[in-house]
Amino acid sequence: MQQDAGRAGALLTIDLGAIRSNYRLLQNKLDGALCGAAVKADAYGLGVLPVSQALVAEGCRHLFVAHLEEAIAVRPHVPETVAIYVMHGAPRGYEPEFIEHRCIPVLNSREQIAAWSSLAAARQSALPAIMQFDTGMSRMGLSGQEVQGLLADTDALRGIDVRYLMSHLACAEDQAHPMNQKQLAAFKALRAQFPGCGASLANSSGIFLGAEFHFDLARPGAALYGVAPVAGAANPMQAVVRLQGAIIQTRELAPGTGVGYSLTWQSAQPSRIATVAVGYADGWLRSLSNRGVAHIAGVEAPMVGNVSMDTITLDVSQVPLEHLQAGSLVDLISANNTVDQVAARAGTIGYEILTSLGARYQRRYVGEVT
Ligand SMILES: *Cc1c(COP(=O)(O)O)cnc(C)c1O
Repeated sequence: MQQDAGRAGALLTIDLGAIRSNYRLLQNKLDGALCGAAVKADAYGLGVLPVSQALVAEGCRHLFVAHLEEAIAVRPHVPETVAIYVMHGAPRGYEPEFIEHRCIPVLNSREQIAAWSSLAAARQSALPAIMQFDTGMSRMGLSGQEVQGLLADTDALRGIDVRYLMSHLACAEDQAHPMNQKQLAAFKALRAQFPGCGASLANSSGIFLGAEFHFDLARPGAALYGVAPVAGAANPMQAVVRLQGAIIQTRELAPGTGVGYSLTWQSAQPSRIATVAVGYADGWLRSLSNRGVAHIAGVEAPMVGNVSMDTITLDVSQVPLEHLQAGSLVDLISANNTVDQVAARAGTIGYEILTSLGARYQRRYVGEVT
């Protein structure tokens, strides 16, 4: 039975069973270490509540989001035994909300540490946290110098229950990159200064760098959602997303006819064009203009002309007419054209394709937890 896009122009199918299977694959690869999950940015655009619930059903007990607001949205929908970590830490003045909503900050600066420690003092109770170090990415966490300052100040961590020490890898998808070993060495050296704390280094790609990178807790995101974790290698993850756009109409073009804004494509021969109800407002990036492809009944149809806000145009001259009815669905992201392949054509990475997925799609979850 073919699903249709209903009142929307496109159907986005998200396979929660595939996410669970990907989680199992990573957890098995981790051997003894725990597998958490990054569910920031609405679980990379796939829906934070259904995705989190699927992961929790598979045994995940550690969820990572970027903002406090994201943590508050998830908290009521997962069991209290699931820890929710806010990677940006507390916005200044919002520390008490972490207690109210039972979520845990990642402390990235001396200032965040001081605020969390004074709240612990005021509450007269120890407060949990993750402490993040910068080991070479220069984005988040305490610098080496700040760590030395912290170690010199014996009161600095008073009242803070440091559950995990954490750092983030800059180049993990490139297994041969020398930065991986450099960051590993820096992280190990820092860890030696804080005995008794757990440690977390690996994102998706980091898990594939080997057991030395696993420590106590991993934080994969992209691989759970089907993005290839290792550049230049076969993707071991199951595809999670299928995007199908609906044909609105087709037309026959005489040779030399232009298509779309600025007429950036002209037919060289008699051509059939299908207009599909997905555009850059849906996250079908404008950089795919004259570069993207769709598949219709397995036949590749090149995207011709510029991507519009609400539509794209395909050269469907090679596609049998029976598949070109109004309402027929064409595959935009599928086994034939994965998230990573779409990203390569758009000049970006799979992460951006996923997190750009539009709000107008009809969403259908399959493989749901029952
Ligand atoms: C986003 C993020 C992750 C997850 O990364 P993936 O590459 O998607 O696996 C882990 N840790 C931090 C600090 C992040 O920002």
